[in-house]
Amino acid sequence: MKLVNVFRFGHHGAMRVLVVEDNLALGTIVERGLREDGYAIDLVSTLADATHQVDTCDYDMMLLDLGLPDGDGTQLCEEVRRRGSAMPIIILTARDDLGDKVRGLDAGADDYVTKPFDLPELTARMRALLRRPVDYRNTEIEVGDIVLDPSTHNVTRAGIGIPLTSREFALAEYLMRHAGEVLSRTDLLEHVWDANYDGLSNVVDVHIANLRRKLDQPGAAPVISTVRGVGYRFETLDDLSVTP
Ligand code: CA
Repeated sequence: MKLVNVFRFGHHGAMRVLVVEDNLALGTIVERGLREDGYAIDLVSTLADATHQVDTCDYDMMLLDLGLPDGDGTQLCEEVRRRGSAMPIIILTARDDLGDKVRGLDAGADDYVTKPFDLPELTARMRALLRRPVDYRNTEIEVGDIVLDPSTHNVTRAGIGIPLTSREFALAEYLMRHAGEVLSRTDLLEHVWDANYDGLSNVVDVHIANLRRKLDQPGAAPVISTVRGVGYRFETLDDLSVTP
């Protein structure tokens, strides 16, 4: 018996997922693919139906298109969070719509998948979210003396507020959620920018440099390490706090 299979199927065998997508061709592909993968799926195509489903059923996760015929998916996302639900939400966003992505994350979504996507990518993202503690999203992220609050978008170091742009905040949040792990530029581009971002090739490096400039403090070890040829790592900072 392979442990990995026990984990995989045992974990999401009873998972119920609401898919909100008005492109029925895409919605149907997702619905069928996820069913084959063992998820229980409800597919709806309007904001009204999605709201009704969320009101009446207890979902383990929601996949949410933002551009819906009767409204904007971010409204539902905000409403779900306002009610205190930590249900993981993945935004399904159009390839070039960075605005969608930012609005979705601002509204409380946990992750996004850029259309067109393939099912393995989607299910990998889903498994990653389902593995996390259910209430992780409502809590502040603390790494050493740096505290990031996803609900207020405040970042402090040793209690002092650090102003970040929205992109820097998204980058800091992603890095801090994965503190201690090496993340490639591709990882960062996919999660903080568009997977197919075709702007400046050094956009990640530029934002990392800006974050370092804002987060690093004299007398303390650097917060973000460069792992040559691989990417970046946000240090766990266990013993890197600034000492007065
Ligand atoms: Ca749509």
